[in-house]
Amino acid sequence: MKVLVVGSGGREHALAWKIAQSSRVQMVYVAPGNGGTELDPRLKNVPITEPGWLAQFAIKEGIGLTVVGPETPLAAGIVNIFREHGLKIFGPTKEAAQLESSKDFAKAFMKRHSIPTADYETFADAKAAHDYVNRKGAPIVIKADGLAAGKGVVVAMSLDEAHAAIDAMLSDNKLGDAGARVVIEDFLDGEEASFIVMVDGQNILPLATSQDHKRLKDNDEGPNTGGMGAYSPAPIVTPSIHAKVMREIIQPTVQGMAKDGIPFTGFLYAGLMIDKQGQVKTLEFNCRMGDPETQPIMARLKTDFLTVAEHAVNGTLDKIELEWDRRTALGVVMAAAGYPESPRKGDVIHDIPAETADCVTFHAGTTIADGNLVTSGGRVLCVVGLGDSVRMAQRAAYQAVDKIQFNGMQFRRDIGWRAIKR
Ligand code: ATP
Repeated sequence: MKVLVVGSGGREHALAWKIAQSSRVQMVYVAPGNGGTELDPRLKNVPITEPGWLAQFAIKEGIGLTVVGPETPLAAGIVNIFREHGLKIFGPTKEAAQLESSKDFAKAFMKRHSIPTADYETFADAKAAHDYVNRKGAPIVIKADGLAAGKGVVVAMSLDEAHAAIDAMLSDNKLGDAGARVVIEDFLDGEEASFIVMVDGQNILPLATSQDHKRLKDNDEGPNTGGMGAYSPAPIVTPSIHAKVMREIIQPTVQGMAKDGIPFTGFLYAGLMIDKQGQVKTLEFNCRMGDPETQPIMARLKTDFLTVAEHAVNGTLDKIELEWDRRTALGVVMAAAGYPESPRKGDVIHDIPAETADCVTFHAGTTIADGNLVTSGGRVLCVVGLGDSVRMAQRAAYQAVDKIQFNGMQFRRDIGWRAIKR
């Protein structure tokens, strides 16, 4: 079978890498892909991003299954378009993708279906928003309603910061339409974890648990990023927390979407906040896998992912069980100079070690220019190590990281510290 993976990041490289391991795969196309997917002989880049053109490509090429990585094409309706052409595609429709593309939609949905989350209100009017935060006090969280590539959330520790965030979004229009409405929600304390499942409209198949590191620098300091590293499993998600999340968050979400007439198909990602008492609240939904969580998760998955994805599009996820490598997988993101503010492009990347049984490097912001592999985006590589403990996985990852060279590279030295501390 020919398979199409839509996207160009480390998440899509990991998905395509995993799918290509299936003996039933003839070719995996990645649209548009990156330098890593271009170098892999089992993968082929396709320079198309527009959903309508991708559907035409899928028809012409006889693609049997498409898997979508990022949120932007999902919010633009790529799944609706493919289905209209009778093409098999795994992801949520535009309507279901609102769980991620509109925070107001997600919050109203959670309230309606009694899914635990922080209390909130939504505002389009700046004065009403300012009055609300004055009443509530700090810390408080200001979120742009729409997609803002991770830049739409301000965790305001003071009222001044909260007022400034409201002004930036509602008065100065700094995030455009995405910030034309803001959700203001109570600050939650605790430890975050990522909980990702596959959904076929009705059946739910949980993936291995994971945790990422959002801040740029060691000790969780510096600015927020798309994620500087992740590992799987996440020891904070104990079996009892796992059961609670399934019961209180995931099942009511999938049932609620079906009941509301917009059945959810695709990867469903719940960002969790787990407090000291083991209470869990939903910080956010994403309608896709996380990046970089996908990289360690795919590195641990033993089951043929093409078969899993086929069950997902055929509505038979209840017919399959996943088998995982028992080891920990830990991914370290190597980012470009200037990331996250203004990543520099064009630095030549040297000495990426070949894949081994305990280490694999996934590409994100890389491209081939004049025969060289060069940086082309903020997060450049995600180096995943596997080991019998978090420390051993960490060692395997950093051994490879220490060989790789490019000017201005930035990475954290402490990925996995929370799991090690436990
Ligand atoms: P992402 O880039 O992960 O998709 P996003 O822009 O959709 O992020 P959220 O995940 O809702 O935004 O928030 C980003 C981060 O802000 C969270 O990972 C968490 O660290 C912090 N955060 C969000 N909501 C709260 C809250 N209510 N209390 C405390 N921290 C919060």
